Amino acid sequence: MNKHHTIALKPPAATRPLVIARRRTLEQRDNLRAGAIALAFASAMGDLDARNKLAALPAKLAALQVECDLSPDAQELAHAADSAAEIEWRKAVQQMDPPDAIEGINAISCCARCVGGVSCILTGSAPYAGGECAHPVRQRHLFNLNDQGLRVFAYADNPTAARFFDAAVRRLGVGKEFA
Ligand SMILES: [Zn+2]
Repeated sequence: MNKHHTIALKPPAATRPLVIARRRTLEQRDNLRAGAIALAFASAMGDLDARNKLAALPAKLAALQVECDLSPDAQELAHAADSAAEIEWRKAVQQMDPPDAIEGINAISCCARCVGGVSCILTGSAPYAGGECAHPVRQRHLFNLNDQGLRVFAYADNPTAARFFDAAVRRLGVGKEFA
């Protein structure tokens, strides 16, 4: 089996959004603290449930504070991990042979390794290429035209992207439509 087949189809999933979604804010801490006044009152009136909740509050407040304090660093760590994973993935893509990379492409569907909206293998080796599919025919509206009316591949200066796209264009037999 070809070693390239072990390369994951999808680019790595980003972890930073998860860290942000889990983020605790100072506002949450303040809300919790504000609610404690009513608890303290109820507790003083002999409400045992309120007394127990009040007793648990310092630990909750402290935990929220710790999470607030660490959130920026946690996001930074996630960002670094995401960048490293993406760089690894791009490196793996760049090592693929064009026929391997464009496997599965035809007039209707893109390559097996194209994940619409996430990443297209045809542009995946180019940093900041975004997730839009670059299928030469199906996505023909995406391409600018040059002076001769030929479509221009926007990532042609990325050698891997250029090789993959060229292979795709030749496979689809639309070479004369492209610069
Ligand atoms: Zn695609």
